[in-house]
Amino acid sequence: MGTITFDTVSKSYEGDIDAVKDLDLEVKDGEFLTLVGPSGSGKSTTLRMLAGLESVTDGEIRLAGEVVNYLPPRKRDVAMVFQNYALYPHLSVYENMAFGLKRSTDLSKEEIKKRVNQAAEMMDIKELLDDRPKQLSGGQKQRVATGRAIVREPEVFLFDEPLSNLDAKLRKHMRTELNRIQQDLETTTIYVTHDQEEAMTMSDRIAILHQGVLQQVGTPTEVYQEPNNLFVGQFIGSPSMNIFDVVYDPGDNTLTGDFEYQFSQEVATRVDDHGGTHYTLGVRPEDLQLAEVGSDANTFEVVVELIEPLGRDNLMYFDLPEADTEGREYVTFVDPNYHPDVGEHIYLTFDDQQIHLFDEETGLNVLNEESPGRVERIAADD
Ligand code: ADP
Repeated sequence: MGTITFDTVSKSYEGDIDAVKDLDLEVKDGEFLTLVGPSGSGKSTTLRMLAGLESVTDGEIRLAGEVVNYLPPRKRDVAMVFQNYALYPHLSVYENMAFGLKRSTDLSKEEIKKRVNQAAEMMDIKELLDDRPKQLSGGQKQRVATGRAIVREPEVFLFDEPLSNLDAKLRKHMRTELNRIQQDLETTTIYVTHDQEEAMTMSDRIAILHQGVLQQVGTPTEVYQEPNNLFVGQFIGSPSMNIFDVVYDPGDNTLTGDFEYQFSQEVATRVDDHGGTHYTLGVRPEDLQLAEVGSDANTFEVVVELIEPLGRDNLMYFDLPEADTEGREYVTFVDPNYHPDVGEHIYLTFDDQQIHLFDEETGLNVLNEESPGRVERIAADD
């Protein structure tokens, strides 16, 4: 059983650096969980503590129920794949893949050969077994590094940004391959990436970290549709969610600020339950629509800044003529046959069922306080 539990795990480095703070996370047996967050958010540290490459400052890490805090790396049934592949340059591909088995198991030569051949078959690198790493492309090295993890038949795979050094096309291809292999082997996997798209496309569940603090854990759909807080809302999704500063008046259910908008009674009631007035409104690009001038009270005026063709849709960047939008970027999808002029004033609208409303002070999404995978402790300086 490859269940992994992080029980209030923290890691501090010298100089008051809290790389990971009070992490509570359970990864289920056979699950593919991705740790995602910007650079420096504590992803690698989390993975390295589980692998035994970093000590744990506080809390417990359990593998299949057993506390592993003090077990040396080779006694933990985990296999890690690194971004830089970490292959031995003087050994052949075969020897690289067999090395760990020869050193830390008492498997027979025959058994080792069988496992290496099976893994090589799986990774489609059988014809490379006699080559040295320097003869291989980046993609091939990545396959060898993954093959070397597979031959160990571990309870857990750990991947630390394994595709970052590959070009975009190969990266997409390898995502699918890694997913296929993980599903075939049903090995519990923790995958680290800073790339939210990679996290969204590969994972059963995603855990989002920010400044060492877990922000939310959920399926890709949950974290996309029901972000716990402003950080998750902006980090997950590309292009990023549009962000507006608004003030809510519970007297007549209206927003003022970057523009005016009147909530439906249903949404207003949920906002009233929260009781605040100052919010950050998040609307995803696909949830904004073009509106006829003056067709509805809930339209707002924007200025077209740039049209970027994507093929099936165009991306339209815009600005708000009446608001202070310094440092913010606004974007929506429009039909490729729609050709407004740059500088043209047009109107947009949205349905309040599709919005996200974050408390200005805490950043919490007040419209989905019951969301699955909610993690209450979200402040990075807790
Ligand atoms: P990520 O993988 O999300 O980029 P890391 O886990 O590598 O983040 O780092 C988290 C924080 O811990 C960062 O602030 C980083 O500078 C710090 N850190 C990581 N390793 C060390 C170390 N060996 N010594 C001191 N600080 C470190």
